[in-house]
Amino acid sequence: MSLLVVGSIAFDSIDTPHGNVERVLGGSATYLAYAASLYTDVRLVGAVGEDFTDEYMDVLRERNIDLDGLQRRKGKSLFWHGRYMDDMNERETVEIDLNVFSDYEPVVPDDFRDSKYVFLANARPALQMEAREQLRNPRLVLCDTMDLWIETTRGELMELLKRVDGLVLNDGEARLLTNNKYPTLVAAGKRIMDFGPKYVIIKKGEHGAMLLTHDGIFAVPAYPLEDVFDPTGAGDTFGGGVMGYLAKTGDLSFANMKKAILHGTVVASFTVEKFSLDRLREITPADIEERHGEMVRMLEIL
Ligand code: AMP
Repeated sequence: MSLLVVGSIAFDSIDTPHGNVERVLGGSATYLAYAASLYTDVRLVGAVGEDFTDEYMDVLRERNIDLDGLQRRKGKSLFWHGRYMDDMNERETVEIDLNVFSDYEPVVPDDFRDSKYVFLANARPALQMEAREQLRNPRLVLCDTMDLWIETTRGELMELLKRVDGLVLNDGEARLLTNNKYPTLVAAGKRIMDFGPKYVIIKKGEHGAMLLTHDGIFAVPAYPLEDVFDPTGAGDTFGGGVMGYLAKTGDLSFANMKKAILHGTVVASFTVEKFSLDRLREITPADIEERHGEMVRMLEIL
C-alpha cells in the first residue's frame, strides 16, 4: 500500500565533531519518504523554494517517490542549521528559517486523499492538521513533532493528537510534552496516550526506542554502531522504516508493530553513518535485510 508523507523538505547545514557540511539536502519529509521508499510506494506533500533545483528533485525521483503533491513556491526552501555536541545525543538549533514553509498551506492532491497510511512528519501542528483533515478514510496516521512546537504551539498540537493514531517523539520531547511531571518515560508515554494517540513511540537516540500501546510495551536497543557520523534524520528515517514496513505488511497487530520498530531501528542506523541522505542512497533493501538479520540474532536469548 502507498504511504503518504507530509512535512518539511529543507537544506541543512550541520556541524558535528567529525566535520561540517553546508546546505545539504534534508528535511523531515525528505528523510522519512526516502527511508520508507525502501519498503513501499511513497507519495510526498510539501513545499520547496526556487533554490530546490532539479538535481535535488532527482534524488527523490531516484526512489520513484510521487512528487505530485510537491509545491514549488516563490522564495527559498526551509533552512536549518544544527550543531551536535561531543555527546552526539545532544544538539542545538543554530538557525532555522522556515522561508516558503512559514505560510505554506498543504494541499493533498485528490488522488492522494484515499491514502490508507499517512505520516505527518515534523512541521507546525496546524499544518499537519490541515493535511490530516483532507484525508478520506485513513487506516493509520502517525505524526512527529519537536520541542519548538511543544513550546510555542501546544494547543494546536493537543488538537492534532486527538486526530492521529500515533505519535513519534524523542525522550526529551516526551518529558516536555508532559511538563516533566513523570519520573519515567513509561509513565510519560502512558500520559501521552491519554491525549489521544493509541500508539506512542519514544526515540532515545543511541539508547534505542520504546513503543507503548494498549496491548503492551516494547523496548529495543539501537543497532550498536561504534561510530556515529551525523545523527541528523535518524528520527525521521526511523519513522520511515516503521511506517514503510507497516504499509508494506498491512498488519497493525502488536507483534507486527514490534517488527516495524526493529525495521525503523535498522534503517536509522544507516542514516547516521554519513551526512545527509548519502548513506541511504547507497543501500538497498538487501542491505537492510542483512543488518536486520544481525539485529535479530543479537537479540536472540533462548
Ligand atoms: P531529525 O534529526 O530526525 O530530528 O530531523 C532533522 C530534520 O528536521 C532536518 O533535516 C531539518 O531540516 C528538519 N527540521 C528542523 N527543524 C524543523 C522545523 N522547525 N520544521 C520542520 N522541519 C525541521
